Amino acid sequence: MIDHCCAEMTRQADLRCQAHPDVFACPDAMVRFEPKFREYGLIVHDGGSASRGIDFCPWCGARLPESQRDRWFDALEARGIDPWEDDVPPEFEDDRWLREGLTDPVSAGEDLPRSP
Ligand SMILES: [Zn+2]
Ligand SMILES: [Zn+2]
Repeated sequence: MIDHCCAEMTRQADLRCQAHPDVFACPDAMVRFEPKFREYGLIVHDGGSASRGIDFCPWCGARLPESQRDRWFDALEARGIDPWEDDVPPEFEDDRWLREGLTDPVSAGEDLPRSP
């Protein structure tokens, strides 16, 4: 379970609409949260699956954690895994790799947002 900045963000990030299994098709969905990248995006309702990365919460204005997308690719690369070709380990399918400190040792000195 990930702590989001506020109740509304938590609601949005965990939103699972019965009517729209595809979150991009749901008009109620405004924010998409990608746990494995710890990345927040504003959903663009243009019929596709576009989202815009956001740095601040649109509801409470809190600064959102930095995207770990680059680090995700780096960490897999360090293991010799090509995410496009190979099976991605299950701990890399969500935020477990971040919580378990599986990040690339080269970048481990950086500040990583931690759950309490
Ligand atoms: Zn819906
Ligand atoms: Zn918020």
